[in-house]
Amino acid sequence: MGRTMSFFVYFSGSCQRGEIDWQYKTTVQLNSHKACINQQSNWPRGKVLGGCSSINYMQYVRGDPHDYDSWQLSQWSFQEMLPYFKKLERADLNTIPKNDKFRNHDQTKGMMDVTMLEDTNQANRLFIEACQLNGFHETKDYNAEESLNGCVSMSQVSTKGGKRWSTASGYLLGAVKRDNFHLLIHAHTCRVVFDDQKQTIGR
Ligand SMILES: Cc1cc2nc3c(=O)[nH]c(=O)nc-3n(C[C@H](O)[C@H](O)[C@H](O)COP(=O)(O)OP(=O)(O)OC[C@H]3O[C@@H](n4cnc5c(N)ncnc54)[C@H](O)[C@@H]3O)c2cc1C
Repeated sequence: MGRTMSFFVYFSGSCQRGEIDWQYKTTVQLNSHKACINQQSNWPRGKVLGGCSSINYMQYVRGDPHDYDSWQLSQWSFQEMLPYFKKLERADLNTIPKNDKFRNHDQTKGMMDVTMLEDTNQANRLFIEACQLNGFHETKDYNAEESLNGCVSMSQVSTKGGKRWSTASGYLLGAVKRDNFHLLIHAHTCRVVFDDQKQTIGR
């Protein structure tokens, strides 16, 4: 792994093809990628604590509830997923409207901080207004809608206090203080060994 943590906000592009990216490439494409060198595209993956959540675009979008339901898979309906969505998040009290059905605002629960992106650029507002003129409606919380059809909104992002909030921030920072938790960096796992009880054994 590369650097131990990444707090960069927005610079997702700059995190790619460097030491915190595995720097994968697609195979040579026969019928697409004509403008790319060797007809290959980059396939970034985070090589850092927090993995891709440390280099991604931080968009916090659960997706349209209807999509989950249309999969018709056991345990993957939106209603069955909702408790897990709520369990993992800490929605920002100042920017995301309270909604007990869909959101967790309890700051003592959840691991992943979610904030509504600040509306500082006038182009954002103009874009939303243009969408409204074309029949879309602005939602104050797209992660609390029964359907995303026709919605437009500013983004919700995985940040806290203006910094990236990766899974390393959410899960590792707390766990690393435990006596029975050992964190190895710059280490490449070659195999994971399980004992008869299906417990991993540390060798
Ligand atoms: C550029 C980019 C932008 C994205 N933007 C968004 C976005 O805006 N919103 C969104 O929701 N999702 C986004 N995603 C997707 C999202 O980040 C990933 O789906 C998610 O982080 C995957 O989590 P994971 O834990 O499954 O895997 P990963 O995050 O890939 O974690 C796997 C970890 O295991 C480590 N690892 C792998 N092999 C070994 C080994 N042999 N030994 C030791 N360590 C190893 C890796 O280095 C990594 O740290 C984006 C992804 C990328 C790459």
